[in-house]
Amino acid sequence: MKNCLWLFVLLAGLAQAQTYTIQTVPNTKLIDNSYVSNPNNLLSEKTVAQINQQLAVLEKQTSAQVAVVLLSSIGDANDFDFAQGLFRLWGIGKSGNDNGLLILYVEDQHIVRIHTGYGLEGILPDATCKRIEMQFMVPHFRNGDTDAGMLAGLNEVIHIISNPQYASEVNANESPGRSAIEWFALIFMIGWAIIFSVVFLINLSMDHFKKAGSKEILSASLSVGQWLLLVLMVPIGLAYLLSLANSWILLLVVLYVYLDLLVVDKYKRVIACAHEALGKESLYKIQHFMKVQGVVWSEWALIFPIPFAFIGGRYKKIIQELPTYPRLCQKCNQKMSLQSADQNNFLTDKQQFEAKIESATYYIWQCKGCASTLIERNPSNKNYFERCMKCGVMAFQSTLKTIRLASQKQTGLQLKVGTCKYCNYTEEQELILPKLQKHGKNYNSDRTSDDSGSSWSSSSGSDSGGSWGWWRFRGRWEPAAGW
Ligand SMILES: [Zn+2]
Ligand SMILES: [Zn+2]
Repeated sequence: MKNCLWLFVLLAGLAQAQTYTIQTVPNTKLIDNSYVSNPNNLLSEKTVAQINQQLAVLEKQTSAQVAVVLLSSIGDANDFDFAQGLFRLWGIGKSGNDNGLLILYVEDQHIVRIHTGYGLEGILPDATCKRIEMQFMVPHFRNGDTDAGMLAGLNEVIHIISNPQYASEVNANESPGRSAIEWFALIFMIGWAIIFSVVFLINLSMDHFKKAGSKEILSASLSVGQWLLLVLMVPIGLAYLLSLANSWILLLVVLYVYLDLLVVDKYKRVIACAHEALGKESLYKIQHFMKVQGVVWSEWALIFPIPFAFIGGRYKKIIQELPTYPRLCQKCNQKMSLQSADQNNFLTDKQQFEAKIESATYYIWQCKGCASTLIERNPSNKNYFERCMKCGVMAFQSTLKTIRLASQKQTGLQLKVGTCKYCNYTEEQELILPKLQKHGKNYNSDRTSDDSGSSWSSSSGSDSGGSWGWWRFRGRWEPAAGW
């Protein structure tokens, strides 16, 4: 160390009248751990000692590194280039945040320049540096008082850097930008995994329906493998990669665009699933499936308005067009065409009757390839027809007559008279209404039921005359809300 000092003094002596280049300025930080490079003794020893003490405290408190360089001459070199070159060569400031600052004083050019690293530009922009130079330093330099000018300028710089308000910006050790976005990415990943696991479970129970009379399930969901890859791995991977890029905006934009794509993909899957089910499942069930999915869509549309601006209206139209969307032949997989004329050639008497009284509508599809036909029956309880117990045709219609009102002392009695319009089968049924209770529910009031009773298989009405049978019966008899 002593040898180094001697060497420095020797070099300093030799350099007295020297024109300095970036390479020949003594890097005193390496030589004797001094913040001040003063080879021409332009500052007094006392001032150098004072500056060293102040800058050591500053570095300890904020991790910011400040170097002070005073030279008699840099020849014709540009002061900005010189300061920047020296700044880079010495690597002033901690590498994590580049929070260094260099004050260059050149005697023969009458120039002082405060050069900041990237990490300090925010709190010490060029304009501020210029102001410090002109306001605090140059007046003293004009009077020939280099020590006072340098101390005044440094005081101002130290005052700004050590302002607690700027602590996180200055401090290199914690690298705040990076860690904040990494936290965000971590929380995002955990939140994402939880939310989309729940969404996946809901999807599993919602996004499919069983084909009529088949074990096959038609599903609009991704398979478990696809789901793990597309919904979990890719977004989490993207979040991680983008956290390295250290930009919130980029992270959010990329993930948002990716989600938009997933939403559009889901939309296409739902439609494909519905189209695949046509001709295999009842039209009512397919439409119901799409409507339920549509409710989910409208919620998603709040978060992803851009894709929905394009697909929202189309979705409704697709539901409306389902009845006439070409079915695929189950034998040869070709498109079938709808037969509008001469429907009766394809239908049985019973089917024709149902079509006539509009208790069911029939679509007859014929394959263009193999000429096989598909008869699609879609029940409608527009006119409140029920299935006849005797002939099975949906042509049974009933009227209800009240014989005796229920009171608190007595049960009520109603008579239901039903006739089949197809086979004239007639049925009378006495319905006993339970006594009214003093407090609580009025059992005479109407109840509604969700049972749509739309297909043959589900219309398993009970014949027992008790009150339990009555409620079951009412549930089936009333037109369901969906129709
Ligand atoms: Zn065919
Ligand atoms: Zn009948």
